[in-house]
Amino acid sequence: MIVILRPDIGDESPEFKQILGYLSNKPNLQTRLHREVGELRSVTEIYLIGDTQALDRIEIEALPGVERVVRISEEYRVVGRHKDDGRPNGFEYNGVRFSQDSLNVFAGLCAVDTREHVEAMFKALRDRKQTCTRMGAYKPRTNPYSFQGHGKSCLPWVFELAGKYGIKVVSMEITHDSHLDEIRQALESAGRPTGVMLQIGTRNTQNFELLKAVGRQREFPVLLKRGFGITLEESLNAAEYVASEGNGMIVFGLRGMKSNLGDPHRNFVDFAQVPVVKRLTRLPVCIDPSHSVGSRERAPDGLLDVFHVTAQGVIAGANMVLADFHPAPQTALVDGPQAMTLDELPAYLDDIAIARDAYERRRLAAVPS
Ligand code: PEP
Ligand code: MN
Repeated sequence: MIVILRPDIGDESPEFKQILGYLSNKPNLQTRLHREVGELRSVTEIYLIGDTQALDRIEIEALPGVERVVRISEEYRVVGRHKDDGRPNGFEYNGVRFSQDSLNVFAGLCAVDTREHVEAMFKALRDRKQTCTRMGAYKPRTNPYSFQGHGKSCLPWVFELAGKYGIKVVSMEITHDSHLDEIRQALESAGRPTGVMLQIGTRNTQNFELLKAVGRQREFPVLLKRGFGITLEESLNAAEYVASEGNGMIVFGLRGMKSNLGDPHRNFVDFAQVPVVKRLTRLPVCIDPSHSVGSRERAPDGLLDVFHVTAQGVIAGANMVLADFHPAPQTALVDGPQAMTLDELPAYLDDIAIARDAYERRRLAAVPS
C-alpha cells in the first residue's frame, strides 16, 4: 500500500507526524519514505510493507495531509504501474525530459578512445542539434586481455569537450561503485559542463550492491539494461532495487537476449517488449539496436539491419535510443564492426523521425478502451 501525501506536506509538518504516529500503532507494519519528483510537483509517498490487509484505506485517506492511498497488488511497488495509480512518470535531468512520452537519441562511441574521435563525434551531434550521447570509459569485457576502457583518466577531457559542444547528458556505464565517485569528482572539477546518466550494463543487471549504490544517490539518473540471460521480471525487479533505495530517475533498457535463435544478429532483438515494459511500469524505455544487431549487415532494400531494428523499437513507442557510432569504425577499440559512421548519422536521425511520426499517428488512431 502507498500513502500519497499532499504536495504541501513536508517531513516536519504536524500532519506528517500524525500520519506516521497512526501507522506506527499498527502491528507488523514497516514504513519506508519515498520522494517522487515530478515535472510540475513533487510528493512524498509512504510505502507500507508487511501486514497491510487489515488496514482501512478509507480511514487512512481521511487523515489530514493524505491525498490518496493506492493498494498495490502487483509486483514492482515503486516502478510499477498500479490500478488507479495516477502517479507521474518520468523525470527531468539537466534540462532533458525523460518519460514514457518523450524520445531522446544517444548516439556516441561505445568506448572513448582518442580526443580527436570524441571531438568529431560531438561536433557531428551538435551539427544535428543533438544534446545527448553515449561514451564508455569503463568497459566490461569478455576477454581480460581486451581494452578495458580509459577509466577515470579520460573523464576530464570528455566532460570538457561535451560542454564545449552543448551535450547535456552523457550515458556512461559504470561497473563498480567507486566509478560513481570518480565521475562525480571529474564533473565537479570541470565545473559541471555536462550531465551523466549512469549505465548499468547487461552483465551487472543483478549486481545488487551496485544497484543499491546507484539507487542511494539522487544526483544521476540510471539507465538499467535488462540482463541478457534472465527473465523480464527479474530485470524489472533489478529496476525496483534501484528505485527502492530512493532514486526514481530510471530508464529501462532493452538490448536483446543471448540466444542462438537470434542468429545471425548478435542478440535476439526484444523490442516487441517496449509496450510491455511501459504497461508494467512507469519507466521510460530505451532500446539499444547496436548491441542487439551487432553488425553493419544491410538488407536488400538498402537499409542497415540496425536502421530496421531501431525503427521497430521507435514505432512501438521507445523513449530513448542508444546507438554506437564511430568516426573510423575500423580503428575502434571496442565494437567497431557494429558502429555506424558519422556520415550515416543524418540518415539515421531522419529514419528515427519517420518512425516516431508513424508511432504518433498510430497512437492517435488507437481506439480508446
Ligand atoms: C554498452 O552499451 O556498451 C554495453 C556493454 O552494453 P550491454 O551491457 O548491453 O552489453
Ligand atoms: Mn559495446
